[in-house]
Amino acid sequence: ATFGTLSDRLVATFSNLRTKGKLSPADVDGTVREIRRALLDADVNLDVVKQFTGRVRERALGDEVNRALNPAQQVVQIVNEELIGILGGQQRRLEFAKQPPTVIMLAGLQGAGKTTLAGKLAKWLAGQNHTPILVAADLQRPNAVQQLQIVGGQAGVPVFAPEPGNGVGNPVRVAKDAMKYARDRQHDVVIVDTAGRLGVDQELMRQAADIKRAIDPDEVLFVLDAMIGQDAVATAKAFQDGVDFSGVVLTKLDGDARGGAALSVASVTGRPIIFASTGERLDDFEPFYPDRMASRILDLGDVLTLIEQAQKAFDEEEALKVAEKFATDTFTLEDFLSQMQQLKKMGSLKGMLGMLPGAKGMREQLENFDERELVRTEAIIQSMTPAERRNPKLLNGSRRLRIARGSGMTVTDVNGLVQRFEQAAKMMKTVARGGVPNIPGMGPV
Ligand code: GDP
Repeated sequence: ATFGTLSDRLVATFSNLRTKGKLSPADVDGTVREIRRALLDADVNLDVVKQFTGRVRERALGDEVNRALNPAQQVVQIVNEELIGILGGQQRRLEFAKQPPTVIMLAGLQGAGKTTLAGKLAKWLAGQNHTPILVAADLQRPNAVQQLQIVGGQAGVPVFAPEPGNGVGNPVRVAKDAMKYARDRQHDVVIVDTAGRLGVDQELMRQAADIKRAIDPDEVLFVLDAMIGQDAVATAKAFQDGVDFSGVVLTKLDGDARGGAALSVASVTGRPIIFASTGERLDDFEPFYPDRMASRILDLGDVLTLIEQAQKAFDEEEALKVAEKFATDTFTLEDFLSQMQQLKKMGSLKGMLGMLPGAKGMREQLENFDERELVRTEAIIQSMTPAERRNPKLLNGSRRLRIARGSGMTVTDVNGLVQRFEQAAKMMKTVARGGVPNIPGMGPV
């Protein structure tokens, strides 16, 4: 994917970091330097890189990392937050006019994917009970009108195109006529495709600005090919000066170019990325979520949500106590039970596992996961005496048999639980001491 290489490099940087416990200023500097190089190599704009790494460095050297249970993890979270920031922060939805029709104008270079996007947007809107109409105001490119008609046909959305001999060559006139046509027929969204050139030029800008003035759009979407590299920033700025736009659509995010320039566009222009286009089919299209894109780049899964849920469920004191127990090898079955009850508070285990990185490959295991397992585990532990819970080494054969009977399980079930507990305790001990655990079937987390 577009951010594949960048993603690989950032993930590698973090996995080096994860083998450390406390972070020295030199560790932080080394990490920040690697992040900077990875971003620059991915074509992210220099100013954006400077701001970004500056903030990451400052925060990584600060208190929030020093005090953290796991400093490396905290640094990853900081990078994630800052990345979301340069991608625009909050998700920005398409804005609809209070009085329909909502008018959306598309602008961008030729080949950026405007016409394709027009069809995608129309189909997406039609799927949400809107009644969009497409307007062919790209009268420069041969076949542009015909292409829009094809795309409209695929989307099942009508297309307004100039009648031969009437308004041909005058996109402003076509756009105005289209507005009247759309109002008369109660279309609630009008999507206007405009002409692009291969490069930025004055004539193109003037024409786009004229159309904009004539139809007073609610949204002007600047369509940007994520594969055009460093030129993306200059192009975006030229369009901002020439026409101005309210939002950005990144196209060809499925490509394998470095794509980092696309990462710069929101912070360079101050305009949000609203949609992402990820292929040639009309369905390859989605609203853009800065947080999800950041997670994808950092291969975090939806860990942020997970961390938030964990923070809600666990109180911090408790978490510190447990970590201490892990580290000193005094974690008991009683703690195991209370942890498990905490986990239950965090909601469905399946939902939770689904948010972990690498969860895609685990789908099958997730499908087979039986939540009743938790209930059984609880029953077994509750059938133990407090002394046994604190010290599983007491669990000889006759005790195991008693517990099995008491909980309605078999001795094999009891043995299995004790074994899992011992594995978990061992793994958590590694984590608590700053190491990387190896969860079977999951790879290092
Ligand atoms: P326009 O000149 O801006 O209207 O661009 P087009 O819509 O004609 O798109 C130019 C080319 O890019 C076409 O071949 C499209 O099929 C292709 N294209 C558009 N969007 C995407 C996308 O998200 N991914 C890929 N791989 N190709 C795309």
